[in-house]
Amino acid sequence: MALEKGAKAARPMDARGVVMDPRARLKCMVPVCANYGRNLMCPPNVMPMDQFAEVLRRYSRAILVQFPIPLDQNLMKGFEGKRLEEVYGSSEYHQRLRKSEAEIMDLLGYLEKEALNMGYRFATALTGGPCPLCEECVGQGSGKRCRHPFRSRPSMEAMGIDVLLTAQNAGLSFEVPPKDGPVWNGLLLID
Ligand code: SF4
Repeated sequence: MALEKGAKAARPMDARGVVMDPRARLKCMVPVCANYGRNLMCPPNVMPMDQFAEVLRRYSRAILVQFPIPLDQNLMKGFEGKRLEEVYGSSEYHQRLRKSEAEIMDLLGYLEKEALNMGYRFATALTGGPCPLCEECVGQGSGKRCRHPFRSRPSMEAMGIDVLLTAQNAGLSFEVPPKDGPVWNGLLLID
C-alpha cells in the first residue's frame, strides 16, 4: 500500500529495532530549529521522551516508510556557498520540502487508517519533519487547538527516535548528509 501511494521504500520491522536517543531531541534545540516550541507537533509540545519510550515498549511491530524529497543535485548546486538561512528562505526549496512533508504525513495517516481497519487497534503513525499543514502553526501557549487534528502527526525525530539507526535496523539506510535522492522517514507502529 505504501509503495502504491508513492513511497520510495517500505519495510516491516521488529519494534525493538526502533531506537530512541536523547541526542535526537537535543538536535531540535541546538542549533534551535525554527519550529521548536512554535509547532504543535514539535518539541516541547509533544509527549516527553520517557513517556514515549514506555509506549514504544508495548509495540511489537512497525513499518518504516521512506518518501522521496524532490531536492536534486542541480537545485542544491545553486545553493553552494550560501548560508543555511538563505537556503531555507528560498521559496523553491521551501515549497518542495513542504509539499513532500505534507505528502508523507498524509501517506502515513492513510496507512494508519488502513491498519486500524484491519483490526490493529493501536496503529499509530509518525511522520518526517515538522507539521507543514498551516502556513503559520497556532503554536505553543496560544491555547488554540490544532486546525487539522486528524491529519497532523508528530515526526519520528520529534519523539526522540534516532531515525538513521532505526532505518538501518529496518534495512533501509540512507545518506547523512544526503548527496542526492534524499528521503523523509516515517514510522507506523502496529499492534
Ligand atoms: S495542522 Fe496546523 S495547527 Fe495543527 S500542528 Fe499542523 S501546522 Fe499546527
